[in-house]
Amino acid sequence: MDNLSFVGVRFGRLKVNRIATKEEDSHSNGVHVFCECDCGITILIRLASLRHGYTKSCGCLKRDMQTKYRSASGDPACWGRIYRVWRGMMSRCYRTTDKDYPEYGGRGINVCRRWHEFVNFEADIGNRPDGTSLDRINVHGDYEPQNCRWATPVIQQRNRRSNRLFEFNGEKLTFAELCQRHSIAESTLRNRLDKGMNLSDALMFPVRKRRVKHARKNHGSHHQTRSS
Ligand SMILES: [Zn+2]
Repeated sequence: MDNLSFVGVRFGRLKVNRIATKEEDSHSNGVHVFCECDCGITILIRLASLRHGYTKSCGCLKRDMQTKYRSASGDPACWGRIYRVWRGMMSRCYRTTDKDYPEYGGRGINVCRRWHEFVNFEADIGNRPDGTSLDRINVHGDYEPQNCRWATPVIQQRNRRSNRLFEFNGEKLTFAELCQRHSIAESTLRNRLDKGMNLSDALMFPVRKRRVKHARKNHGSHHQTRSS
């Protein structure tokens, strides 16, 4: 391909203006061209570097990317731990080659639109306390502000269990639904399962009655709320 045919061609933000003359170009490593960058700056660059995609701007592109992905501390985002968490989350949900993809993206778990931008994710989730990792409160739900928090492994494990689907009497229910259906406090059922009780027994075993106050406040009426 004739060098002249690159005049006017665009590579990223750069547009080739003209081939540098021998007098203008003291380099010995190939043809150089003058390019105008979208930001207005004109630079002299090796044509091969453009053709191979090594150079796509006068340098403003990299600067812009670093600004865009800057963390709250002002450092480039890729230095931070939260950035790695974000990248891992995006990868699990959207990179089909990720080893965890089948459990996430493959199961329809998404990252909310807002969090596709790292800066938004960082702003919403806040700093990661030591010993915690990103946790979805409802493990069947998406990565989104209402459903995410930093949690310790203990909390995460409990959460995974409480989001597990329990099959009982032909119904598939979450832990919370199961407790509601059988009128049992989540803490009670959790304690019983922790003690090794099987699910059926844990649900059926009567709950020790607590003293329940039936006395309602008098709403100005003379009616006594005494049990008959
Ligand atoms: Zn530029």
